[in-house]
Amino acid sequence: MFEKKYNITSLYLTDKTKRRSGLKINPQVKFVVAHDTGNPGSTARANVNYYENTNNSIYASAHLFVDDVEILECIPALTTDKPEKAWHVRYNVEADNKMYGDEANDTAIGIEFCYGGGINNLEAYKRYVWTIAYTCHKFGLDPKTSVVGHYLLDPGRRYDPLPGLRSVDKTYREFLSDVVKEYNICSTISYPFRLIKIKSSGKIYALDRDKIKHHIFNLSSFEVGRQMGLWGGQDMLDLIESDNFKEGESIIFVQP
Ligand SMILES: [Zn+2]
Repeated sequence: MFEKKYNITSLYLTDKTKRRSGLKINPQVKFVVAHDTGNPGSTARANVNYYENTNNSIYASAHLFVDDVEILECIPALTTDKPEKAWHVRYNVEADNKMYGDEANDTAIGIEFCYGGGINNLEAYKRYVWTIAYTCHKFGLDPKTSVVGHYLLDPGRRYDPLPGLRSVDKTYREFLSDVVKEYNICSTISYPFRLIKIKSSGKIYALDRDKIKHHIFNLSSFEVGRQMGLWGGQDMLDLIESDNFKEGESIIFVQP
């Protein structure tokens, strides 16, 4: 289970073109390459439109573009069970083979950070980090070891996503740790929560081990008192009377 904080919109490029071959990733996705567009102010939609308008001019593409408004997928990856290849790292570099035993183009999802100009960089960054964390979840990858910046795969020639990260005052190391943090927050399996349901509003919140409220869940399928088995064997969903508490505030459970 993974919290779907944002929508991913598919806007696939035309099939059987230089940018989208239609070839499937086979047998599986092995890692994620973090890119930025290197073009401050260009939005996710502008990038995808540009790709489509030039779809037979060059073998270059990425799966997703993320800005402050949209997460756009132009090569099937997260919105499908049959991810396709994108051309986002040169074949004749060696770092991807050394690190992951394979070519990035054949086995990695490429995700582009759109920043600068009129883009709200911090909002775009949040979505970018979430998208990468969700990619790890979707393909069963360890977020601690499965994310790599393009500049490490093609050193001296590529610098991304460092310029994008600089726009939000983040180092590469901080970025990697933000991805792991986001993965843990959104993944209820590796980060057990206790769920509470507010009697009056029906809203569901998740509390961590310290009973700190974190997220509003939209899990209408959960029933009060349902055993989730993730948190000390206790019932995970408690019914409480009021949602009159704030983000980060502790809740005291009173045993009946
Ligand atoms: Zn790149």
